Parts: sequence; C-alpha cells; structure tokens
Amino acid sequence: MSYISNVLFLAMEPFRPLFVVFPYLFGLGPQRKVVTEEYPDPTSSKSPEVLPLRFRGHLINDMDKCIGCGDCSSVCPQACLKIEASDVPNREKKWVSVFDIDLSLCISCGLCVDACPAASLTHSKEFRIISDEKAGLVLTFGLGVLNKERIDNWDKKIKKDLV
Ligand code: SF4
Ligand code: SF4
Repeated sequence: MSYISNVLFLAMEPFRPLFVVFPYLFGLGPQRKVVTEEYPDPTSSKSPEVLPLRFRGHLINDMDKCIGCGDCSSVCPQACLKIEASDVPNREKKWVSVFDIDLSLCISCGLCVDACPAASLTHSKEFRIISDEKAGLVLTFGLGVLNKERIDNWDKKIKKDLV
C-alpha cells in the first residue's frame, strides 16, 4: 500500500505547481495580491507620512537657522551645493544670499546633514522629484542679494523670534 501511495505521490509532483498557478491566474486564493501601483496614485500606501523615520528624501534648509558656514558644501562628494554668504556688520550670522542644491547630482548620502552645525539642513520625506529639465532639479533656499530692506526685515524677524 505504501508503495502505491508513494508512486501516486511522485506522479502528482509535476502538477503540484499548477495548484498555485491556476488560482493565481483566475484571481482566486490568497496568492492573488495586487502589488503594482500606478503613479501618481493618490491612494498609494507610499505617502511621505508612512515612510521610515530615517528616510532620506530631498534636502531642505531652514534659512532661519543656517549660519552660512559652508561646512555642508565642504563635505559634499558631489559638489551639488552652491553657497554664497557674506558677513553683515554687527551681526553674528552671515547673510546667505545663495543656497542652491542641485538634486540632479545629489546621491542622498547625508554627509552634509551630519556636518551641519546649526542642524538647519535636513532630509525631507519628499521622494517625488520630477522635472523635464535639469534646472528644475535645483532647489533654491538663498535669501537673495543683501539690501537695506531685507536686512531690516531680518532684524525684525530675529527680534520677533526672541520675544
Ligand atoms: S546628501 Fe550627499 S550628495 Fe547630497 S548634497 Fe548632501 S553631501 Fe552632497
Ligand atoms: S553646514 Fe548647515 S549652517 Fe553651515 S552653510 Fe550648510 S546648511 Fe548652513
């Protein structure tokens, strides 16, 4: 009896995968899962809010904190940070007129974030970076050319933040 059952078992062996494949083909059984998502898909499970804590989206710089030291640029292996900063009389902080990040070069290594002494440079959770031209991949955070109006507004803002 055991000889016959062994033979039957082995005879069925080539057909065993079909028990998995056929239900899948006809949309039956637990194997049938939709795993492909269209893009952009508003119902996608991959929203920025559900990404892991240390996910490295594109960089953002909080210009209220940035001191224009240039440490981030010094450690960047891709030379994708362009910074122009100048001293302002009677103020500790530099005026950062240009702070551009070229995302077409950035490899999201995070070295610049680790090097930033002011913790102003961080990774966002945003992974949707799309542009049909290279210039569209440059993020601009600079405060612009320094002039009296801008420095007055800056002073007012700093005083307001201190209150
Ligand atoms: S994440 Fe890396 S490649 Fe991108 S700007 Fe920072 S240091 Fe450069
Ligand atoms: S290292 Fe930080 S504080 Fe210094 S320039 Fe870069 S972003 Fe600004």
